[in-house]
Amino acid sequence: MDKIEEKILKIIDEHRQQIIDFAEDIYQHPELGYKETRTASKVFDLLQKNTAKAEKSLAITGVKAYLKDPQENEINLALIGELDAVSSPHHAYADKTTGACHACGHHCQLAGMIGAALALTDEEIKNSLAGNVTFFAVPSEEYGEVEFKLNLKEKTLIKYGGGKSELLRIGAFNDIDIAITHHSRPGTADVVVGDRLSNGFVSKVIRYKGRAAHAAANPHLGVNALNAAALGLNALAMQRETFQDKDMVRVHTILTKGGSLVNVIPEEVVIESLVRANNVQAIEDASQKTDRAFEAGALALGANLEIYTSPGYLPTIPRAPSSDILDIAKMILPQGSIRTAQPHESSAGSSDVGDLTHVMPVLTFETGGVSGDLHSKDFKIINKDIAYIATAKIMALTAYRLLKENGEKAKNIKKDFKPIFSIEEYKKHMDQFESVLKKNFSN
Ligand SMILES: [Zn+2]
Ligand SMILES: [Zn+2]
Repeated sequence: MDKIEEKILKIIDEHRQQIIDFAEDIYQHPELGYKETRTASKVFDLLQKNTAKAEKSLAITGVKAYLKDPQENEINLALIGELDAVSSPHHAYADKTTGACHACGHHCQLAGMIGAALALTDEEIKNSLAGNVTFFAVPSEEYGEVEFKLNLKEKTLIKYGGGKSELLRIGAFNDIDIAITHHSRPGTADVVVGDRLSNGFVSKVIRYKGRAAHAAANPHLGVNALNAAALGLNALAMQRETFQDKDMVRVHTILTKGGSLVNVIPEEVVIESLVRANNVQAIEDASQKTDRAFEAGALALGANLEIYTSPGYLPTIPRAPSSDILDIAKMILPQGSIRTAQPHESSAGSSDVGDLTHVMPVLTFETGGVSGDLHSKDFKIINKDIAYIATAKIMALTAYRLLKENGEKAKNIKKDFKPIFSIEEYKKHMDQFESVLKKNFSN
């Protein structure tokens, strides 16, 4: 450990309580995607003070702060923290009105990023870096509330549902060379370094329109949109045997509108769906089958159908775990349980980190200190020093290791990376998933 590394750890230890207080405040004030206004302003206020330039309201709520003047450096490394919560209304810290809850632990990422900023903004430490560090708080990773996102799209406030996807689209990642991302991980490990294959997806809003009528006196005059939807959901269930295990297909649905009054034949029914798989071909296949299934329900009942399909996330392309992060984790937690991510741990879940992996090198690590399943009411912080403080230390030390001594390590990571897409190509790829299907079966 050199003197700068010692100083980074000392500063974070001196601010331990401040970092924990910040994390717990965010934990207790969760906000859903593209609505993270309070969270974003807390982050902005903290970062604005000691950074060269801070921007806010990127992709509605995103906050981006440059450690040094963004004009000056040839390499720029982003420490990413996700702003949004998930919905888990029965969690002890759930927002009573919205059901939002930080049961995915994104507040730990923000604590890590803010803790790292406290250390890296120290003059001596900042001057030891041969490059820039961007503290990047990004919105809307969870991709819930599909219809709400569709509304934002219609108002042209966003085009993509994922915060990182949207930030890529508006050019906010154009000046980032390397991203460092983090996630919480329940289980016995204190630190897991590296990522693994995860699913990509498209999202759908499926709207059935029938005809209202008195449900008891004149049901024959109505067209029951709920029956059409029920048939569509059954047809979708019958497709499942055609999905192959190797593709990790997941098609899940919720009914967000099921009718208005029980004595009226349901006139409008809305379903939201995510169609996931670990490769683009399988996503397209499952997406077509999903559309066909919902069409069958509308055809049978003589209802009208609209399906709005939007690009979701791309599958994650795993890269070899960072040996620097592994060394750092072992250094700060000598007694800790530290390992690399294993290929068999691939996940059927999705993240817009997958999109980033297509365009830039992404170095990922997970920290423990949490228990209970992610997204569940049982999610709990059980060790703040691992969940928050170790995260901050790893982020700060990784930035330093990559950028010290002329930034050789960062430059090599950038040089060796072969992107799948340029950012322009990425946008074209995403846009091909955009579609509107309208079928009119009413008589
Ligand atoms: Zn999540
Ligand atoms: Zn998450």
